[in-house]
Amino acid sequence: MVLAYIGLGSNLEEPLAQIKRAFDELGNLPHTRLTARSALYQSRAIGPQQPDYVNAVARLETGLTSLDLLDALQAIEQVHRRVRLQHWGPRTLDLDLLLYGAETIQHPRLVVPHPYLTQRAFVLYPLADIDPNLQLPDGQSLQALLQQCPFEDIVRLPKSH
Ligand code: ADP
Ligand code: MG
Repeated sequence: MVLAYIGLGSNLEEPLAQIKRAFDELGNLPHTRLTARSALYQSRAIGPQQPDYVNAVARLETGLTSLDLLDALQAIEQVHRRVRLQHWGPRTLDLDLLLYGAETIQHPRLVVPHPYLTQRAFVLYPLADIDPNLQLPDGQSLQALLQQCPFEDIVRLPKSH
């Protein structure tokens, strides 16, 4: 079994509901358990002008290979009827494989750690909710990354959501 961290994002069609449903779907994947979920965050979109995002991170314990997990994430995105109209454009659900154990992966379909992981507040802060002492495969600590990444353009949503 491998610990995998998934970044969730949505900014269309009731983002909060999309993210909550996606947590459940991740927990229902074969050979997989959902072992932690971060708080939910609202973040300002990067790229073309579009609604704010809701972001979160899930921790999975999985027996799926990294590519099988990517297939499964993309299948969930499809269930949410995600349409890719525009690069970095609005989406009903985006699921990114942030970390897969301590592996570094360079595959045409899959780059892990996810390239934006080290710089984006909407990934780093939810990761820290789950595992503040996390280390990346290259040895960088999450705490060091957080110190270079101000808590900017994101808001932690109250628990009642
Ligand atoms: P983004 O998440 O960068 O806004 P997309 O969700 O549209 O863009 O992803 C585009 C492609 O990124 C996917 O087809 C997938 O094969 C590839 N990809 C590469 N690495 C990863 C990863 N770690 N997690 C998810 N998708 C990835
Ligand atoms: Mg994606």
